[in-house]
Amino acid sequence: MPLSTSLALISLFVAALGFGLLLRFWLSSRQIRHVAQHREQVPAAFAGTISLASHQKAADYTLAKARLGLLEMALGAAVLLGWTLLGGLSALNQALMQWIGDGMTQQLALLVAFVVLSGAIDLPLSWYQTFVLEQRFGFNKMTLKLWLVDLLKSSLIGALIGLPIAALILWMMAAIGNLWWLWACLFWMGFNVLLLVIYPTLIAPLFNKFAPLEDEILRSRVTALMQRCGFSAKGLFVMDGSKRSAHANAYFTGFGAAKRVVFYDTLLAKLSAPEVDAVLAHELGHFKHKHIIKRIVSMFALSLAGFALLGYLTQQVWFYTGLGVQPNVASANDALVLLLFMLAMPVFSFFIAPLFAQLSRKHEFEADAYAVRQTSAQDLSTALLKLYEDNAATLTPDPLYVRFYYSHPGATERLARMQGGASAAV
Ligand SMILES: [Zn+2]
Repeated sequence: MPLSTSLALISLFVAALGFGLLLRFWLSSRQIRHVAQHREQVPAAFAGTISLASHQKAADYTLAKARLGLLEMALGAAVLLGWTLLGGLSALNQALMQWIGDGMTQQLALLVAFVVLSGAIDLPLSWYQTFVLEQRFGFNKMTLKLWLVDLLKSSLIGALIGLPIAALILWMMAAIGNLWWLWACLFWMGFNVLLLVIYPTLIAPLFNKFAPLEDEILRSRVTALMQRCGFSAKGLFVMDGSKRSAHANAYFTGFGAAKRVVFYDTLLAKLSAPEVDAVLAHELGHFKHKHIIKRIVSMFALSLAGFALLGYLTQQVWFYTGLGVQPNVASANDALVLLLFMLAMPVFSFFIAPLFAQLSRKHEFEADAYAVRQTSAQDLSTALLKLYEDNAATLTPDPLYVRFYYSHPGATERLARMQGGASAAV
């Protein structure tokens, strides 16, 4: 029975991985073809506002990213097979077992070794993305030194936060019995809420400087807008995003009275005051429509389902053997099962990703509509166009690719909705 179940899992895993890969390659090739075909001409709706040079830069940037994406996809699938069916994770586990013996130290060492090795495998592509791809299009502002310092800092913070959490979850798995997953899930949710609270004030400042917004005119405009919309914020900040990248952004973060507004310096350099207002109003729209809370609640519901499934799979020998791992006979398999679950889940959850992308695009439309009511469609659309142009986001993505992946609607669709105003709103 376990043998046939494990064969069934192997087949299911390989089929899902293969089908997912085919689907991704097909979607990317559609995107590449579509963008390349529309490269020679600015779409009619933007003919007066976007130059041919900008349009072509956006096309080339999108194509370069899509091609790198193909490489990443192939590499990711090979690495995944290496860890699972080809026996990488099993070998790593055995080697550490011989070296350290069993127990909590070995399990933590397995997690650490896995994270370090996967990180090392991803590193060359991450370097290439920053120093070749982003560099070529003028977006990268990082030096190699800053990149290395960032890497060191995030590894240290990851270890400082991650190791105690991993140890605690492993302890729960061993000590609590059958319902460990429920407690682990509650703990995980609590930790995520804590992270949302401490990230803006404790972690983000380790990477960027946050200076109070000095510009008096902008300050009073933004404050007036927030009052009009019924918000109060602890502070308005400018972040030195230009330290790393020319891409521009703004966000509104935090809970209760601790809310703060953060503008990238790159955003303020590019937008006029009314346009900054419109972008902020869009962010406030996300809060007004409770998108953030909705997202957190749905992530929690998914986590609960995930932990419950994990709780069940921990007990199933076929889950290990079906993914190429020989479970330990005399000692705990908790770290192994956590890693296997993390590796195998995305192969299956990939197929429901479009649902979340669609929900996210719906939320973007709602936030746009809110911003239009509070400021003006004109300011929001010129602001968005500037951001699309500065970030070299293509105006002509493949519609099916958008449906599958895009968390934000394409520019054409978005501006059409805004300009349509109340009459087109549904
Ligand atoms: Zn948004």
